[in-house]
Amino acid sequence: MLADKDRIFTNLYGYQPWNLPAAQARGDWDNTKDILAKGRDAIIEEIKASGLRGRGGAGFPTGMKWSFMPKESKDGRPSFLVINADESEPGSCKDREIIRHDPHKLIEGALVAGFAMGARAAYIYIRGEYIREAETLFAAVREAYDAGLIGKNASGSGYDFDVFVHRGAGAYICGEETAMIESIEGKKGQPRLKPPFPAGAGLYGCPTTVNNVESIAVAPTIMRRGAAWFSSFGRDNNKGTKLFQISGHVERPCVVEDSMSIPFRELIEKHCGGIRGGWDNLLAVIPGGSSVPLVPAAQIMDAPMDFDGLKEVGSGLGTAAVIVMDKSTDIVRAISRISYFYKHESCGQCTPCREGTGWMWRMMERLRTGDAAVEEIDMLQQVTKQVEGHTICALGDAAAWPIQGLIRHFRPELERRIAENVREAAE
Ligand code: NAD
Ligand code: SF4
Repeated sequence: MLADKDRIFTNLYGYQPWNLPAAQARGDWDNTKDILAKGRDAIIEEIKASGLRGRGGAGFPTGMKWSFMPKESKDGRPSFLVINADESEPGSCKDREIIRHDPHKLIEGALVAGFAMGARAAYIYIRGEYIREAETLFAAVREAYDAGLIGKNASGSGYDFDVFVHRGAGAYICGEETAMIESIEGKKGQPRLKPPFPAGAGLYGCPTTVNNVESIAVAPTIMRRGAAWFSSFGRDNNKGTKLFQISGHVERPCVVEDSMSIPFRELIEKHCGGIRGGWDNLLAVIPGGSSVPLVPAAQIMDAPMDFDGLKEVGSGLGTAAVIVMDKSTDIVRAISRISYFYKHESCGQCTPCREGTGWMWRMMERLRTGDAAVEEIDMLQQVTKQVEGHTICALGDAAAWPIQGLIRHFRPELERRIAENVREAAE
């Protein structure tokens, strides 16, 4: 288990105040000027060497993403950092805890990252439902301005850097980076085709990097303690410490920071007191938020909780939102409910997603009640393949994968429902 001295988020549970004096007492904003004095390239190299991969779900290498930003301004255009705090993935609630209890880690991280990529300002896009969190963030940004930590000559570095907080209005799709950019620009939040990636043409057509809250908030600690320290946790390609959010049928659901690659069973035993009703009662786990396929109990027990370990069992780390389901779960109903979510949140821009998400949900509802033919299971599988990879953004994939996981692992349950419904109808 991660030692207390190696935790980055030392106020994750809010035992101390979030405000600036308390944050400084915990080590935040400690000679930030010295970090910036290392220079842009040195900061990017350190983040690359740390092995940090994006904590928003996709796991793109963070230092590499920063290095895509232009070294010099073209045509006088500014560059921007956009911080994705639109945490909307069902099961995910880690960024909320950072903003609630450690907002200065995020604001200091914004300055360090923004400086490294030559950004003029950071926009923190926070989901509309996070009302109290937005209030905390506004207040923390104000404290940082008043103390001269951001703004003109930020932290005495000679660098001018602004931080704006932008509240969303409750659309899941605005968490997709280009939909978020559209939303900040005041337009309807719909994803753009990529490429061009935001580093080429992002906010207001300017070079932009979009990073998740956790990815940015860990940057100052990595710079202070060094890449070697951060990369001493986890395993190759899966480095660092990580916030896991464990919900569902465990004894004590929680958000906790631990080493990347910790085995699933160890994570649950140490932090959650085990599975409700014991380990024999575990049915399946969605290990990375609702966008990744479920994994049956037997396959997840020893899986390392990281990008590669969960890929090997046919799923993904995603946001590390671990949804635990015991044998009391109606697994078909659970996946049908997730299907409804994606149908509801589709922006409607591309046909396979607009039409496919509704079709898949209606099919899932019929399978839930057993009001279907066995051949329709294969038809549903084929439709998920028509949606997957054929849409503008990843929402289409996210709608397809949970259903594919259900069919892969629980086909006998789907067939049982159909058989029982047919029998009932005949009686
Ligand atoms: P993606 O793989 O398309 O992109 C990841 C990041 O890497 C983006 O910032 C993208 O611009 C960048 N990138 C990728 N290829 C690039 C290239 N060739 N050049 C430059 N930049 C490049 O994934 P995505 O659509 O951004 O994210 C999908 C993930 O989001 C899912 O895995 C899911 O887990 C997660 N997700 C998270 C939440 C949440 O609440 N945190 C909600 C929904 C989905
Ligand atoms: Fe919109 Fe769905 Fe297409 Fe994404 S995949 S752009 S959410 S219609």
